[in-house]
Amino acid sequence: MAGTLYLVPTPIGNLGDISPRIVNTLAQVSLIAAEDTRVTRKLLNYLNLKKPMVSYHRHNTETGGQQVLERLLAGEDCALVSDAGTPAVSDPGEELVARCAQAEIPVVPIPGPCALVSALAASGQPTGRFTFEGFLAMNKKNRRAHLDALRNEERTMIFYEAPHKLAATLQDLTATFGPDRPVSLCRELTKLHEEIRRTTLGQAAAFYQENPPKGEFVLVVHGAEPRPEPEATLEDGLVLTGRLRETGLSLRDAVRQAARELHLSRSKLYDLALARER
Ligand code: SAM
Repeated sequence: MAGTLYLVPTPIGNLGDISPRIVNTLAQVSLIAAEDTRVTRKLLNYLNLKKPMVSYHRHNTETGGQQVLERLLAGEDCALVSDAGTPAVSDPGEELVARCAQAEIPVVPIPGPCALVSALAASGQPTGRFTFEGFLAMNKKNRRAHLDALRNEERTMIFYEAPHKLAATLQDLTATFGPDRPVSLCRELTKLHEEIRRTTLGQAAAFYQENPPKGEFVLVVHGAEPRPEPEATLEDGLVLTGRLRETGLSLRDAVRQAARELHLSRSKLYDLALARER
């Protein structure tokens, strides 16, 4: 029987966020697939654990992934960890999970630290509907295409960004969404210098142009205001009345329903529809 791949989150800055289940899982597996074994070794030392590790990172997803897959298929349990946060979210783990799913190897997620969830929750932006956009591409054309596709996005948008690219990204976001769009810059979450700056894109772009940013950031950008539906015309009403008539409704009932759906004057629509039917 195949083993299980456990997705084990690690702290994004605060060691106090290691839950008992995280420790138990790391203690119980026979193997850890780590993004950077040096980073994970420090964590294991802190937890007084010794475990065999294999390296699984962006540049060896094929060979590293195959190695992990074979050991899982041979019945070993494996924990996948990234340098920080939840593995497989903007991390190479995504491919390993897909391969396990394809090979019908059980995948068990352990809940825990995740930068995007903490940022969204604390952002003060609407959380009912959101879209996680990860990192913007470095390549200018792909970056432009990504931002253009978000121009009318009404859901709250979440971006990851490295500090040395933050100023340029804020400028691009300002050019796309306008300087008045609210943004929450969530910096150094769970760390000593944690900061949540709720401002506008224009103000944030100006601020970080002058003050080089330090630390890790998640940007939570307010969605676009919904565009008002264009008002329906009496011609739209006639088209809908015609369609409803084809389902067998009387002229009076078809007009009543069309007028209600399109917020039109029933009497005006009725007079016009009657004149067309004569
Ligand atoms: N898989 C991880 C997760 O979702 O928690 C994120 C990995 S991603 C490679 C790294 C990015 O997460 C950083 O560039 C930053 O945008 C964000 N991040 C990680 N730790 C953070 C922290 N303590 N505060 C703010 N953002 C953080």
